[in-house]
Amino acid sequence: MSPTASRDRLLGDLDEEQREAVLAPRGPVCVLAGAGTGKTRTITRRIAHLVTAGHVAPGQVLAVTFTQRAAGEMRARLRALSSDDVGTSTESVQAQTFHAAARRQLAYFWPRVVGTTDWQLLDSKFAVVAQAANRSGLPTGTDNVRDLAGEIEWAKASLISPEDYPATVAESGRDIPFDAAKVAAVYSGYEALKARGADLMLLDFDDLLLHTAAAIENDAAVAQEFRDRYRCFVVDEYQDVTPLQQRVLDAWLGNRDDLTVVGDANQTIYSFTGASPRYLLDFSRRFPDAAVVRLERDYRSTPQVVSLANRVISAARGRMAGSRLHLVGQRPPGPNPTFNEYPDEVAEAAAVARNVNKLVDAGTAPAEIAVLYRINAQSEVYEEALTEAGIPFQVRGGEGFFSRQEVRQALLALQRAAERETEGALPELVRATLEPLGLTAEAPAGTRARDRWEALAALADLVDDEVAQRPQLDLRTLLTELRQRADSRHPPVVQGVTLASLHAAKGLEWDAVFLVGLADGTLPISHALSHGPDSEPVEEERRLFYVGITRARVHLALSWALARNPGGRQGRRPSRFLNGIAPQSARDEGPSRSRKPRGPAPRCRVCNAPLSASAAIMLRRCETCPSDIDEQLLADLKDWRLRISKEMSVPAYVVFTDNTLIAIAESLPGDDAALVAIPGIGARKLEQFGADVLGLVRDRQKS
Ligand code: ATP
Ligand code: MG
Repeated sequence: MSPTASRDRLLGDLDEEQREAVLAPRGPVCVLAGAGTGKTRTITRRIAHLVTAGHVAPGQVLAVTFTQRAAGEMRARLRALSSDDVGTSTESVQAQTFHAAARRQLAYFWPRVVGTTDWQLLDSKFAVVAQAANRSGLPTGTDNVRDLAGEIEWAKASLISPEDYPATVAESGRDIPFDAAKVAAVYSGYEALKARGADLMLLDFDDLLLHTAAAIENDAAVAQEFRDRYRCFVVDEYQDVTPLQQRVLDAWLGNRDDLTVVGDANQTIYSFTGASPRYLLDFSRRFPDAAVVRLERDYRSTPQVVSLANRVISAARGRMAGSRLHLVGQRPPGPNPTFNEYPDEVAEAAAVARNVNKLVDAGTAPAEIAVLYRINAQSEVYEEALTEAGIPFQVRGGEGFFSRQEVRQALLALQRAAERETEGALPELVRATLEPLGLTAEAPAGTRARDRWEALAALADLVDDEVAQRPQLDLRTLLTELRQRADSRHPPVVQGVTLASLHAAKGLEWDAVFLVGLADGTLPISHALSHGPDSEPVEEERRLFYVGITRARVHLALSWALARNPGGRQGRRPSRFLNGIAPQSARDEGPSRSRKPRGPAPRCRVCNAPLSASAAIMLRRCETCPSDIDEQLLADLKDWRLRISKEMSVPAYVVFTDNTLIAIAESLPGDDAALVAIPGIGARKLEQFGADVLGLVRDRQKS
């Protein structure tokens, strides 16, 4: 390919600002870019340009980022540019995480800088932290140790020594699991335990970075060799850099300045792990000659989504807000984001499942849909609602609710309680049983302990909900039902709807996004609010909301519930971030479009009691009422479902859930209208399976 043609291929589909960043001369470049503005596209093109123009050899470029996924994304795009035959050989560019790059360098330089003492990577610091905690007289329960490990990680990433830890924590108002002096003692005990004597040192992930920086800083020959090898540096998602990673980057650079950074301070959501956008924001102060390019054209989202994102972030305060970019949507217009209030979380989840079904019916692939929430314990009601609706899903960045360690422990504890024939009201009994596992009256301090508490609280709430509907429920029946519920949760599928926390959704995008649970106290989360309404933790929550909104390409639905459980006290309020943003009608005129349809409540076919549990609504009778099921038809339906699911290579529940098959075998639908009246069967399923199912019912009635 001629030089002109290859230049066109590299630059032809870039906008003016992107091109400016790509073509900036060698030296410091800072790209301040909002979500979906083409950051990764721009930096990979810049690398390709520097290589094709002969400014640098591909092997001399080191591109770093923070997650494996992001590093993989960069590598894939660099490979694509190579195979595009634009005359570049960008595939030999190193694109890695900071940790992977440091590990590689350390392995190479270690014998020279340390000598004969061997090192071994400590994959998990848990056991060593537990030992150190024990020596300091602190409890060594799993959550305590994890929270201590989290503090040690934060301190090391922030370059804070054990001696400085107490003072720094006092200044930062950090939420810590134990007295600061005790945490500091565990931290220094942990460091001492890792030095195993003369022949072996244990290194954790942060030590890899520390030792790499030290090797280059302290040994001129090492520095020389390293700097001859790498001459050009690129960092993606630079707002996430920690002081420790910055120190490594500085060691790499020495007094050179061939560095391109890309980031968006308004997407900083990992401050609690030590990440800081100050290096991004101070870049042009540190490098006064830097080319600074702002990308404001958003190629990901519709103008409707972009406008909401702009409005939410315009309320931000503080330093990061100063760097805020006004995004301009480049896609064709799409639907307006929707705002809906529900009486409780079960109703909210059921409505989300219905709307997911509508999108799928209209042609959106489940893999292009996401439900995003603030904390992992919120996944439970959505797992349940999607299972009921027969929609495949995957839980990202955390396991499904019933696979969580504390939930499994809780079920075992309840099993033991049931064997003891305990008396008393079920909700109290359950709370008493879960208390030793961590369900205290108030949420505890410490991230992991709180996470566990939330999951146990969700389980206890689920029990309250069941008991409210069936006051006669006993512990054994409850346990059987909980186990059934756990078993009926389908295994993860790759092509399903994504359920994820906002943190886990960072950097990803979908055609349709449901932002759920937007109640004050959940987003912003209550422990952020405890720092004060204008505090930095609340600002970080606002940025998290902004990250969530900007994941959507076209459809965006925002919702919240006034109570956790059906019939519970409706004491919640919508998120403060929705003030002046959600139309008043989401609340005042809400019921007509947002709450459950006002028609008569569904009633049991057998006893005529009103139905509210989702399983009961599916069955159209109380789960405890006698069933008039045609067992042979149910067996035929299950055989048919197995065959179809194999043919389609999907799990069986994607065809129909058990409850839907039961409802068919009970109500014996004779035509399309009777079939779509069954919950779980919409237009799409009718089209796909209607003829088969009606055929099976007819055959059975003939025989
Ligand atoms: P993220 O916030 O996910 O890291 P990003 O800022 O790195 O996003 P990219 O992933 O590079 O953005 O780009 C977002 C989408 O917009 C991609 O699908 C990309 O191909 C597309 N895109 C970027 N720049 C342009 C452009 N100039 N013309 C058309 N599409 C573009
Ligand atoms: Mg990117």
